[in-house]
Amino acid sequence: MTQPSDKALVPFVSVNHMMQLIHHIGIEAMMTGIADYIEQDFRRWELFDKTPRVANHSREGVIELMPTSDGEVYGFKYVNGHPKNTKDGLQTVTAFGLLADVATGYPVLLSEMTMLTALRTAATSALVAGVLAPKGSKTMAMIGNGAQSEFQTLAMKAIVGIETVHLYDVDPSATQKCAENLSESGLSVIACDSAEAAMEGAQIITTCTADKQYATILTDNMVGSGVHINAIGGDCPGKTELAPAILHRSDIFVEYPPQTRIEGEIQQLADDHPVTEFWQVLTGKAQGRTSEAQVTLFDSVGFAIEDFSALRYVLDKIEGSAFYHPLDLLADPDDPLDLFGMLMRAEP
Ligand code: NAD
Repeated sequence: MTQPSDKALVPFVSVNHMMQLIHHIGIEAMMTGIADYIEQDFRRWELFDKTPRVANHSREGVIELMPTSDGEVYGFKYVNGHPKNTKDGLQTVTAFGLLADVATGYPVLLSEMTMLTALRTAATSALVAGVLAPKGSKTMAMIGNGAQSEFQTLAMKAIVGIETVHLYDVDPSATQKCAENLSESGLSVIACDSAEAAMEGAQIITTCTADKQYATILTDNMVGSGVHINAIGGDCPGKTELAPAILHRSDIFVEYPPQTRIEGEIQQLADDHPVTEFWQVLTGKAQGRTSEAQVTLFDSVGFAIEDFSALRYVLDKIEGSAFYHPLDLLADPDDPLDLFGMLMRAEP
């Protein structure tokens, strides 16, 4: 039996290896590093091939492919969103992804992305909040205390300097889990019994709930002036978290408008409602926060470039490490024209 050559072996980062890598680097340092890679890629936004993600909707959820390329490297993520999964002991969101060399089309990395999506989503939230939230923000509300919540909170601590988090979830056991997980984090963690109580005194309000409907997690009267809203959970047609009145008095920042208009909070608004692309704020083409009283809203749905950046980060970090398996993913005959001969030589 012929052995695959090194050039045909693709580094594969399993869930186990990803967890080891996160512990090796440190979760806050890793989210800060991923945020740096996302910022680098957002600053060269115009170079990327961009398309709204390709979604396959069902009654229970959605399965999506998220491709992009900077002309040298191609990447995609497979991701699902099934809010009812948790009652069967399954995750709402699972994912894996790939990077490939555009010149040869050969994959250069295959990786789990359930953990990595949580890190990159939180890194993006914190990168955006670092630019748009009121200066000196120290307190955040974390509404929805499920799988993403600890990551969201820790990224805001590491990147924005948040010191206190107010937790709220309709499921008190989710809040208890989140509070326990954050108990050693150095944050002051306060469990609240309503969204209003969680928002009291918070400069940053993150909504990260999961329900496949037009939910109203925040109503207009709950949102005071001058706050930054980081709306994570509304990321699919028919799945939103904010009352439309909040959108009408916020300045709205998005990743990629053609995708956000389909999936984000702004699906509730007219197609021509003005929004700002966040990459333009980073590059100075558009303004971010312009007054203390302004309500800024990051209508996050998650975009392919963020996954591309996170995979790029992982590829750089695993080089020379033990945090991957070499995967025999590609047939690699000695004579590239003789795929059939390779098969015959492998006959048992
Ligand atoms: P999850 O199912 O693990 O947690 C969701 C939590 O929301 C649960 O604890 C649930 O009890 C709570 N919840 C539901 N309704 C609520 C309400 N009315 N008020 C308060 N809490 C409520 O889901 P997750 O993996 O943490 O993901 C959360 C959401 O974020 C999902 O909708 C997911 O699709 C979305 N998401 C977005 C991005 C992005 O890039 N924008 C990335 C990942 C996940």
